[in-house]
Formats: sequence, C-alpha cells, structure tokens
Amino acid sequence: SEPSLRIPPWLRVKIPCNTTYTATRNLVGDLKLNTVCQSAKCPNMFECFSSRTATFLILGNACTRNCAFCNIGRAATVPPDPDEPARVADAARQLELRHAVITSVTRDDLEDGGAAHFARTIEAVRTALPQCTIEVLIPDFQGSLPALQAVMRAAPDIINHNVETSPAHYTRIRPQADYAQSLHLLERVKAAGFRSKSGLMVGLGETDEEVRGVLDDLAAIRCDIVTIGQYMRPSRSHPPVQRYVHPDIFEEYAEYGRQKGIAHMFSAPLVRSSYNAAMFA
Ligand code: SF4
Ligand code: SF4
Repeated sequence: SEPSLRIPPWLRVKIPCNTTYTATRNLVGDLKLNTVCQSAKCPNMFECFSSRTATFLILGNACTRNCAFCNIGRAATVPPDPDEPARVADAARQLELRHAVITSVTRDDLEDGGAAHFARTIEAVRTALPQCTIEVLIPDFQGSLPALQAVMRAAPDIINHNVETSPAHYTRIRPQADYAQSLHLLERVKAAGFRSKSGLMVGLGETDEEVRGVLDDLAAIRCDIVTIGQYMRPSRSHPPVQRYVHPDIFEEYAEYGRQKGIAHMFSAPLVRSSYNAAMFA
C-alpha cells in the first residue's frame, strides 16, 4: 500500500472526557438518528457533542453515490422513515440547539431526491424549537428545480451545498456530480433570497490555484459563506491525503475569498461544513 503522510500537529485534537458528550451521543442513539459527526468520523465530534451541536443525517445512512472521500457506504437504501422528522425535532429540542444542521445522503433513487422529507424535517424542527435557526446541507437533486423549490418553501435560514473540490478532480473524487450543476443550484438559492453556503476540502490533489478558481466561481454567484478544510482519509480504502495544507495557507485562501467579496470565509485545517455553523446564523 502507498505510504501515508505524517499527520501534522495542527490536526491532532484533544479528546476531552465529559458527560455532555456522552449525553449527546446517547440521546442521538436512543432516538435512532444518524449524525454526520459519527458517519464521517468527524475530528470535531468531541468538541461539538460537548457543546450540544450535531449535524443530523436524514434519509438513511446508505447513499446512492460513491464519492471517493466519503465514509458513508453505498448500500441498499430504505424508504424515507415518516417518523424521522419528529425524532430530529425531538433531539433538537432536548439538546436545546441554537442552530440545527440537517443533511442527508444523496437519494437518486427517490422521485424527489428526498426534498419533501427535508421540508417536513425543517418544519418539525421549527415547530418544536421556534428560536432555533435551521441550516440544510442539501444534495444536488440532479438539478431538479421542483425538488429545490420544495426545500425552499420550508424556509430554512441557510442553504448549503458543497462543491467539495475543484472541477478538474470531479471524475476521480465526485464522479456522479457535476460542478456546473452545483454552482447553478447555489445561484438559484441566492436568487430566491436565501443565504447560500458552500465548501470544499483540500488535500485531494488540487493546487492552490485551483482552490482560488473555485473561490472565484463561488464569488461570481455571490455565495455568502464558504468553508475550506483539510481532507483526512477516513480509512485505508479511501484516497490518500495528497498534502497537508499549512494553517497559514488556509488563512491566505480566506483572505483571497474575502477580497473577491465572499462575506464569511471559514478556512482552517479542522473546518468542516458544519463546524461552528451557529456563528453565521
Ligand atoms: Fe458534527 Fe459538523 Fe461538528 Fe463534525 S463539525 S462533529 S460533522 S457538527
Ligand atoms: Fe457521501 Fe454525499 Fe457523496 Fe453520498 S453524495 S457518497 S453521502 S459525499
């Protein structure tokens, strides 16, 4: 197998042991919910769970796509669970969330890509916790405008859709997706008056110039919030990390994005799409 790069010190996270972390994990388990935090083996899980933050993964934990970087398995999908929106709302209420992030696997097998289920989940959380702001991290719905409109009608506060990497790397990293289609979705979100958010990972083989190219494209469609973080290989069967980007370079990306007019740049090694998401709400 290929040699692995050494993990640099800025990516080593302290693992605190505290009861809020355990309580959050138990609550999520008791309500039979999936979280991205667990499915993606997110390095911030201890910090987020300890501070009563979690990103809910709806529509099952089997995906119809197979992005190279992702730790979510491609397996037989199950029909949307009609009780899931209520359970997400219950968890959000018990966790007293200030900001809820809701995302899903990509369900190309469903007629509406799961858009109606997203809408029901947004509505359930809003009813249970009216003060809580709601962010959705949505799939591309294969470019379907009616699906996107169904989500927008439920009026989330922020609509996030990640481009993940630069277009030159889509075939290898995000084979079933289309960069232009993802940008177009974000453009529609913005045109409908929503705050738009996107993100990408570095360390997948892209150059700094390609990162700046993605930022140019996101600035051109007036994306409000952009996250950039270090790709970390979830297992040895995933593509190796091509480079560990230094924190100073992450800061340069942020500076570049701001200069291009992106209001909220969040760029650092451990930044994930939902990390500190409450800060923008
Ligand atoms: Fe979960 Fe997001 Fe926090 Fe990671 S950064 S633990 S995915 S809420
Ligand atoms: Fe993972 Fe999303 Fe790709 Fe599915 S579409 S494999 S959940 S990144």
